[in-house]
Amino acid sequence: MKQESPITLSPYDPITRALHHPITHGKDYASYSFWLETCGDDLTPRPPLDGSTEVDVAILGAGFTGLWTAYHLLKRDQSLNVLVVEREIAGFGASGRNGGWCFSGFPVEPAVLTRRHGRDAARAVSLAMAESVADVGRVCEDEGIDAHYAQGGELEVARAGYDLAKIEEMYEGYRALGLENRVALLDAAETAERLRVPGAVGAFWNSDGAAIQPARLARGLARAVERRGGRIVEGTTVTDYAGGTTPRLFTDRGEVRARRAIVLAGEAYLSRLPKLRRHVIPMTSHMVVTEPLSPDIWDQIGWERREVLGGFGSTGGYIQRTGDGRIAFGAYRAHYPFNSRITDDLDCMEDIFAHARDAARVWFPALQTHDVAFTHAWGGVFGTPRDRMPTMGFNPQTGVALAFGYTGEGVATSNLSGRVLTDLLTETDSDLTHLPMTSHQPAIWEPEPLRSLGVNLVRRSRYKEIEQVERTGMYPEKPSLATRVFDR
Ligand SMILES: Cc1cc2nc3c(=O)[nH]c(=O)nc-3n(C[C@H](O)[C@H](O)[C@H](O)COP(=O)(O)OP(=O)(O)OC[C@H]3O[C@@H](n4cnc5c(N)ncnc54)[C@H](O)[C@@H]3O)c2cc1C
Repeated sequence: MKQESPITLSPYDPITRALHHPITHGKDYASYSFWLETCGDDLTPRPPLDGSTEVDVAILGAGFTGLWTAYHLLKRDQSLNVLVVEREIAGFGASGRNGGWCFSGFPVEPAVLTRRHGRDAARAVSLAMAESVADVGRVCEDEGIDAHYAQGGELEVARAGYDLAKIEEMYEGYRALGLENRVALLDAAETAERLRVPGAVGAFWNSDGAAIQPARLARGLARAVERRGGRIVEGTTVTDYAGGTTPRLFTDRGEVRARRAIVLAGEAYLSRLPKLRRHVIPMTSHMVVTEPLSPDIWDQIGWERREVLGGFGSTGGYIQRTGDGRIAFGAYRAHYPFNSRITDDLDCMEDIFAHARDAARVWFPALQTHDVAFTHAWGGVFGTPRDRMPTMGFNPQTGVALAFGYTGEGVATSNLSGRVLTDLLTETDSDLTHLPMTSHQPAIWEPEPLRSLGVNLVRRSRYKEIEQVERTGMYPEKPSLATRVFDR
């Protein structure tokens, strides 16, 4: 077995980046994730904004949210003048770094949505999310985007008896909405037909899930937006915005006035704008990926349909079989940076990388016995709203549209944002414009230091809870006091 050196530097840590890619040559964007490195696109930044301008729709951010909004707007009305303003390059944020889980899971579970908004609204959200998974595949097909899209569904594996209650609860959430035809509970034998992992006693399967190579999707979408007449400027920072009869984005390279709307699509990074400082907080997530596995190892593991794979407990994670035959493993170890400060340093957390590699070997012991190397490790930030509910709203009075807050489940949800905003901005009354996210008012986070104290307390108590479950073999009757107090 290969020994992990505790001081091994990831190719994505800031020191290695600086050594290999001096600042004078600009940022090496390929170094921000395995996906960006292998996306096959030229990552040289597009020209920045060249002075003040006026357009129909001005969008902050060329991640999935901004690009899906631009794409669907232009598909609806090619005459629209759409400008996307990006601080770095398209796909630089979470969209170019995530686990590639394009699935219909929504950050607020069906039971909670039902309690807050009623069964019909919860069902409509689930169906709209399923449609988003399909839409991503359809657009890849229509636009010739080779994002390695494979719709094998989502597989959540119970690897201990006490996890069975979790997958039953997931199934029940869909059954209560009358959507049991889209999901299934698998027993141990049925699970093993799909995938061999130690201790698997059953699984929840959701048909509405697809594995993707996220950077290929983001970069391909950017090209599709341009082919449809949209314009993307990169290396241009939005510093503030204003609503009104002519809403505006203020940037470091001029002002963008919008005849119809401005769209704020910067997810976690929106917390950098003074006006949205407490609407969303950045949380980190980190991933590792192996070298391509040999056919022998794949025969042992199975997993032919490339379902996006998840599980619970201290070694739980979000996992995918990549299009080129690797295992990409994302650890459920989020970290909140004090005062929402986002820096490149957050991308590299060696203890989380080591944990992710160890957890991957627990899931797939063949990685250890066959001495499989981990080739890449990276991280990024996603946006978390105070009440976990995404916002997809447009205020026609101010001309400001806002879409953010997917709490780490934004790959398909951002596509839904793009479709919802397209209907709202073109005044199209549809099922989408009545979803609860369109009228949702974002809850405001506490000021510091309360915010980080609270988040870290809940985080630590959740980890403790998981350890306790694994020690005692059962879940506690109710969440810990810290979780209940903070939730309230
Ligand atoms: C490691 C990791 C793994 C994840 N895995 C999954 C997963 O498997 N499945 C899933 O559903 N979700 C996952 N997520 C979450 C998902 O990736 C995000 O929710 C989604 O990509 C958000 O897209 P976005 O376009 O809203 O934001 P981003 O992709 O973050 O894009 C925002 C863009 O705005 C730009 N920007 C920010 N501020 C400014 C400014 N002031 N001026 C101009 N431009 C600006 C940024 O540079 C960036 O390009 C993961 C996230 C991370 C970090």
